Amino acid sequence: MADGKVVSIDYVLRDESGKELDRSSESAPLVYLHGARGIVPGLEEALAGKSVGDRVEARVPPDKGYGPKRNVKPQEVLRSRFPAEANVVKGAQFVAEGPNGRPMPIWVTKVQGRTIYVTSEHPLAGVTLVFDVTIRDVRDATEEEKAHGHAHGPGGHHDH
Ligand SMILES: [Zn+2]
Repeated sequence: MADGKVVSIDYVLRDESGKELDRSSESAPLVYLHGARGIVPGLEEALAGKSVGDRVEARVPPDKGYGPKRNVKPQEVLRSRFPAEANVVKGAQFVAEGPNGRPMPIWVTKVQGRTIYVTSEHPLAGVTLVFDVTIRDVRDATEEEKAHGHAHGPGGHHDH
């Protein structure tokens, strides 16, 4: 794996106790542009120099994962600030406008009637991530993908 390659991986993510946190679906591998920080730095480092078919186990500490736990105090937001059709449940991720006007990911920590508690802290902050990865496909990034700094799906034609 090298910078400028678009990589498709199957992965299972567990915490240190072995509890499964996430996995890619059989039909939809995770597709990312290597070298563009599309995945956590520790996993990108572990995949550098690997090839199609390789199985990689990587233990990624928080400072190379989703960062240390900062214990950010959740903020209250009214349900009416969310789209009416949105599924506002604990753990759901939304994109809010940050202080500088740029998009900022937020996560729901609690739902209490019409009051929603959200935090900008990633739910996996402070967690050591244990990845079990199989590399399914590698191809060169298209010019458009290089310009955008991210992958456009398995074939490079994902529209957005
Ligand atoms: Zn794009």
